[in-house]
Amino acid sequence: MKYFLSLKILMAMLLGSSVSASELNIYSYRQPFLIEPLTSAFSDQTGIKVNIVHLKKGMIERMKAEGKRSPADIVLTVDISRLSALVDAELTQSVDSTILDSNIPEKYRDPNGLWFGLTTRARIIYASKERIKNGEVETYEQLADPKLRGKICTRSGLNAYNLALTSAILHHHGEEFAINWLNGLKGNLARKPQGNDRAQVKAIWAGECDISIGNTYYMGKMLEDSEQAEWANSVRIIFPKFENGGTHVNVSGIGMAKFSPNPENALKFMEFLSSENAQEIYATANFEYPIAPGTQADKLVKSWGSFEADDVNLMTIAKLRKRALELTEIVDFDG
Ligand code: FE
Repeated sequence: MKYFLSLKILMAMLLGSSVSASELNIYSYRQPFLIEPLTSAFSDQTGIKVNIVHLKKGMIERMKAEGKRSPADIVLTVDISRLSALVDAELTQSVDSTILDSNIPEKYRDPNGLWFGLTTRARIIYASKERIKNGEVETYEQLADPKLRGKICTRSGLNAYNLALTSAILHHHGEEFAINWLNGLKGNLARKPQGNDRAQVKAIWAGECDISIGNTYYMGKMLEDSEQAEWANSVRIIFPKFENGGTHVNVSGIGMAKFSPNPENALKFMEFLSSENAQEIYATANFEYPIAPGTQADKLVKSWGSFEADDVNLMTIAKLRKRALELTEIVDFDG
């Protein structure tokens, strides 16, 4: 009897540990079609079962409420502001991995391993093929030039993508310049900020403006859509630079959850996603750029042209976000 009991307990313990050792739970702001090809490849390779919770919002609140009992091992999201919000809420833990450190460039990860970038997207100019000549706009600074009065469309200045761009302006030129730049850009708008990045390209197609600001991958997404392909074909991509830097990029990224119940599996998955092959699959699925050394963007993405990413560390962009938001409000950019 005693023997049987202890055997039962032993079995339960073994079973319990093997269940937790073979699972991985992901909280994701990214869409299923982006993640699932990779998680199934990962499962095939490792035998680890992956569960994904797709969220549209509220990841921080949810993880805070779950506290130490949170099942999340991994958080996946886009934008440096969302990654740093998770870090600021102390919901990720420090990961020390030579594989991650060698695959992910320093400017795209937290120095303490609290988050890692996986892919980049550039914030670029969509320009009317018909109405904007080659060489007419080449820098972010020129977007505030009165020569472009009435020609520009953009989404809200308070949107995360635009706040990151304004943070980069702040980094390169300081406050006084940033305020003037925001005012100049506002003065050049053809209409009040509204809609998403694609809606601006539609406005160019419709003749409402000639230039818009948007992320690179939307070109690919518009081309995939029968209605939007026409909008996409009315514009070309210009990779602007800062006068004293490169093209502004942001990241999609990953972190290990603070209370990850399966930290070994989480580390395996993070290292897997940083590998050349996984990076290319992940980037291609959303027309983004892989960042591991030796990786290549998809053919279509490459056809848009090449650029040199700005050197700024994304931690700097994250730190300047609050001030960028205040300045955007001071100039009443959306008003
Ligand atoms: Fe987006």
